[in-house]
Amino acid sequence: SSFLTMNLSRPLLKSIAALAFTKPTPIQAATIPMALLGKDVVGGAVTGSGKTAAFLIPILERLLYRDKSKKGTATRCLVLVPTRELALQCYEVGTKLGSNTDIRFCVIVGGLSLKSQEMALRTCPEVVIATPGRLIDHLRNSPSFNLDALDILVLDEADRMLEDGFADELREIVSACPVSRQTMLFSATMTDSVDDLVKMSLKRPVRLFV
Ligand code: AMP
Repeated sequence: SSFLTMNLSRPLLKSIAALAFTKPTPIQAATIPMALLGKDVVGGAVTGSGKTAAFLIPILERLLYRDKSKKGTATRCLVLVPTRELALQCYEVGTKLGSNTDIRFCVIVGGLSLKSQEMALRTCPEVVIATPGRLIDHLRNSPSFNLDALDILVLDEADRMLEDGFADELREIVSACPVSRQTMLFSATMTDSVDDLVKMSLKRPVRLFV
């Protein structure tokens, strides 16, 4: 399989080449075509499998070419990850993949000032990468921040977020997202609580285990 046969646009193919990703990893080969079709996806994937790009590539492609009228006016995509480190890694991959586009990213994690993050959110970056606890703070307390126009929700390392005790936060965040959205969930393990989260937040998902 090849990135060239995935119907990706030129700016993305350029940034994929610049990252020296010559060939999709198995989780990318499985996820990208399904996600581009707009389907909900459950991916069994661990760190190191290339799962970050597996969701970021279709996100960028969809944000670039769908509903341009919303560009720069609202949060279009939310990526939830369990830790600050993962959020920063995801941000780095995202800004590199998006370097030939005008799509903007923002990181919302604990340990950075609420005020400066609130100001960043006010500029409406299309993609928000966040840990659940800090995102809840903004959802509850930042008057201008909401998820009303969200197109895509990603729950990355879902098993870890649940183990870390974020189940209630995840439920609250998912409830704040529009029903008509695309959701992708990635998890290294498929426990009962992950399955409950899948049932609560995904619609007829394609299950991809590579
Ligand atoms: P991840 O599993 O998303 O944390 O990615 C693990 C590492 O694989 C990161 O350093 C990525 O830059 C790298 N990577 C992701 N996709 C590819 C690819 N298609 N070819 C080569 N390296 C990749």
